[in-house]
Amino acid sequence: MTETISAPANARTSMRALTEDAGRAYELDRQHVFHSWSAQEQIKPTVITRGEGSYVWDGEGRKLLDFTSQLVFTNLGHQHPRIVEAIQEQAAALCTVAPQYANGTRSEAARLIASHTPGDLDRVFFTNGGADANEHAIRMARLHTGKHKVLSTYRSYHGGTQLAINVTGDPRRWPNDNGSTGNVHFFGPYLYRSPFHSTTEEEECQRALEHLEQVIALEGASTIAAIILESIPGTAGIMVPPPGYLRGVRELCDAHGIVLIADEVMSGFGRSGKWFAVEHAGVVPDLLTFAKGVNSGYVPLGGVAISEAIYQSFAQRPYPGGLTYSGHPLACAAAVATIEVMEDEGIVDHAAALGEEVFGPELRALAESHEWIGEVRGVGAFWAIELVSDRATREPLAPYGGSSREMGAIVLAANAKGVLPFVNFNRIHTVPPINTAAEDVRRGIRLIGEALGEARASDSSS
Ligand code: PLP
Repeated sequence: MTETISAPANARTSMRALTEDAGRAYELDRQHVFHSWSAQEQIKPTVITRGEGSYVWDGEGRKLLDFTSQLVFTNLGHQHPRIVEAIQEQAAALCTVAPQYANGTRSEAARLIASHTPGDLDRVFFTNGGADANEHAIRMARLHTGKHKVLSTYRSYHGGTQLAINVTGDPRRWPNDNGSTGNVHFFGPYLYRSPFHSTTEEEECQRALEHLEQVIALEGASTIAAIILESIPGTAGIMVPPPGYLRGVRELCDAHGIVLIADEVMSGFGRSGKWFAVEHAGVVPDLLTFAKGVNSGYVPLGGVAISEAIYQSFAQRPYPGGLTYSGHPLACAAAVATIEVMEDEGIVDHAAALGEEVFGPELRALAESHEWIGEVRGVGAFWAIELVSDRATREPLAPYGGSSREMGAIVLAANAKGVLPFVNFNRIHTVPPINTAAEDVRRGIRLIGEALGEARASDSSS
């Protein structure tokens, strides 16, 4: 079992016979494919041969309930016919076009995105994924404010690239030549493991804001371009911020001329039961980054939604950044279809109802009966089960940044029962496609519960 940040369930789970095609895929993978975040010779990637809705089939022919949405991106599940058809139609009409031209599919994708982003976030810069969306958002914030530092929370993930333009060797580098200096981390709210010794959400909110205020004062508000945070930290543990926190961060940003960047790469496009998770707090950021769920991940796409004030910074001076595939028509066609399906089928309300009627009650009931569960938390179709070896001390069942025999056993048991869980350190995230039927969500939770029970039983007997 290999645990990684971005490919948590990346392990072949049994040695049953692969089909001939799957065997070849596996062997060629091992010879030629270099995988993300992994020690290459310690992984045994599961072969996935097909997908449909909330299910995938592995190379041994087993049908698995996908409780991961892969890396939390197939928000509408696999092979949604309307998205597939939109990509096919776009491919037949015009596969690609450079970003300097206007294109109807790209324009429509931008219009639809802007129609759902909060406030005046009405301009869209398209990127290839989430990391470059964040890089561009930071670049915009720096150029807009003339300041350099960026504050972000511990326990966050914003993408795998570095500020790539700094290694570029032509004049386009000059306005961006900042190295990676000036990144300062602070603690966000996390009541279950409160860095502030809080015992209530109110305390956690107030103390986290006081802490941030101090960090701003000590770093110097006049040096800080942006605060970037995930509206609900995702991979780090789905810590839904306490009421008032994001509003307090917004007020601190306003008071000090700091750009607020909401990273909605994972939490956006319905995952939290709202189009964007900032809506739970009634807060409008200055920049909002997105990727993944914008088109269910069928073709790589990300972007930055830009407020009017920041847009005006680049109305008469060139924005010094760009990408060959900015607004790729195939990706934008998938985005248009995804958003239209979400609108037509009430998918965001479905995700909200799943949270209130299924995930919440079922996971809380599970927590009652499993000693290893320290806390369950989440909203919409975005939930974490935090596992501990001791409920009193809250000792995690795997160390921060690592894995453990127990976590490995849980994943193996879950896979054997036909469910793919998203696992990170000592947590299981239950994040199936947001259009998953309630009965499938119930089934997945039951199977994860059984897997926990089996792993616990074998642990205490060993
Ligand atoms: N931001 C958040 C919140 C993410 O969860 C991720 C990826 O998991 C990223 C940014 C990076 O996105 P990408 O992998 O598309 O570059």
